[in-house]
Amino acid sequence: MKVWSGLVQMVKDYLFPVFCLKCQVEGQWWCKNCLKKFTVMGVYYCPVCHLSNLNGQPCNPCRAASSLNGIAAFLDYDDQAIIGQLIKQFKYNFAFDITTVWEEMVESFLPEIISRMNIEVDFLTVIPIPLHISRERERGFNQANLVAQLVFKKLSTLKQIDFNNKSLQRKRPTNQQAKLNRVDRLNNLKDAFVWCGQKSAPKNILLIDDVYTSGTTMQECAMVLKKFGAQKVYGFTLARD
Ligand SMILES: [Zn+2]
Ligand SMILES: [Zn+2]
Repeated sequence: MKVWSGLVQMVKDYLFPVFCLKCQVEGQWWCKNCLKKFTVMGVYYCPVCHLSNLNGQPCNPCRAASSLNGIAAFLDYDDQAIIGQLIKQFKYNFAFDITTVWEEMVESFLPEIISRMNIEVDFLTVIPIPLHISRERERGFNQANLVAQLVFKKLSTLKQIDFNNKSLQRKRPTNQQAKLNRVDRLNNLKDAFVWCGQKSAPKNILLIDDVYTSGTTMQECAMVLKKFGAQKVYGFTLARD
């Protein structure tokens, strides 16, 4: 498997050489040198009204409307900035090698962000937002799952953590949320997710996705998880749109 993926990488490097999006040096999407000069404090905001705050928890007037107990991201999404370009390449151009960038960011910045969110890390379960099976087959991978694995890998070096990418499922294909208005977004996702685990959902959950836009998807998942027994559900994404 390792030999095979190494070979694929060599062919890819030859056919499609990669250049650092910042300094254009060949070899990586965001080279180690550029990444080193860069600090990520995280962005924290109310999951409902998107007002910035210090820990990502819903503000008082929004609390009742939020199934999520908190949300944070590495950065604000910007189409023109590196983060936007990386996410686009990652999602639509099958640039798996970008996971090395996410890995560096998770490694360097995630623990501090998690602690700012006041998440109880012991016995936390990391769960990626699922794609419908037909979409995953078409794309070949679930980008949220790749990020969730990195998050799990890092946090499990610190505490007792679980990972579950099987039990939360998208039971029917949905339209792309970004193209819909608010009401259609809600209808589009109604009853789209289900918990299929043998046991009830874990008590303490960290949901992972690539981008947080309106938040409807993550809120819907958090609601389902709470219906199946979760008590606290937090969200983390690479970027906030
Ligand atoms: Zn560079
Ligand atoms: Zn709010």
